[in-house]
Amino acid sequence: MSTLEIRDLHVSVETKEGPKPILRGVDLTIASGQTHAIMGPNGSGKSTLASALAGHPKYTVTSGSVTLDGEDVLAMSVDERARAGLFLAMQYPVEVPGVSVANFLRTAKTAISGEAPALRTWGKEVKGAMENLRMDPAFAERSVNEGFSGGEKKRHEILQMELFKPRFAILDETDSGLDVDALRVVSEGVNRAKENTEVGVLLITHYTRILRYIKPDFVHVFVDGKIAEEGGPELAERLEEEGYDKYVGKTAPAS
Ligand code: ADP
Ligand code: MG
Ligand code: MG
Repeated sequence: MSTLEIRDLHVSVETKEGPKPILRGVDLTIASGQTHAIMGPNGSGKSTLASALAGHPKYTVTSGSVTLDGEDVLAMSVDERARAGLFLAMQYPVEVPGVSVANFLRTAKTAISGEAPALRTWGKEVKGAMENLRMDPAFAERSVNEGFSGGEKKRHEILQMELFKPRFAILDETDSGLDVDALRVVSEGVNRAKENTEVGVLLITHYTRILRYIKPDFVHVFVDGKIAEEGGPELAERLEEEGYDKYVGKTAPAS
């Protein structure tokens, strides 16, 4: 059993005009095996939370703490966070021209687990995971994210999640830009990881649609850089009907 604990987290983003405060006191605790959905309007700071957890250099934690089983995550480098078991699927994943998916996956797996995976079993594992996600085997030879369609990027993220077996996965708008079939395939991948590894999932989304496939245990409404309301799955259904209007403008502006 592991716990990821976010306490009173304040984060600013670096802009040309100087640091701009975005997160204004986020509290969230995720345990192994739990799925937490963060839902909120555009610009509320959801991706900022994901980037801060990932250690993105543009985002500065001005106060608060993030711990994984008591270990200070904010003191860790990006690599150390991955080795500690944090996985982040970015809303806009970066291209890595000249590095094939197959090479990237093996290199990253080696870095995360501290030893190279056994070639024979690894090859089978990758092949099986790609089949499950309905990915063409030729995909493994393409450059990471270069010219990937929206759906291919998301499948590639979930492929990594299934192969790297993180303790906590932060999925930022994994549903955006997916048609219904792709959404189902990607959701099945997340559900497989949940069954096989007890991964704790932080599912960031603007829409309730993905929550029909990936069942959240907790739903947090995110507005103006903090959590405005929390509940169970029924809260997502209410949001589907009511939207975010009633929350917006209820808290003081960020700056
Ligand atoms: P969400 O993911 O909920 O749509 P974001 O975290 O992307 O929200 O953005 C939250 C706020 O922070 C927005 O007002 C956005 O314009 C601002 N912001 C985020 N990243 C940057 C950046 N790199 N430079 C300037 N402003 C940013
Ligand atoms: Mg956005
Ligand atoms: Mg976002």
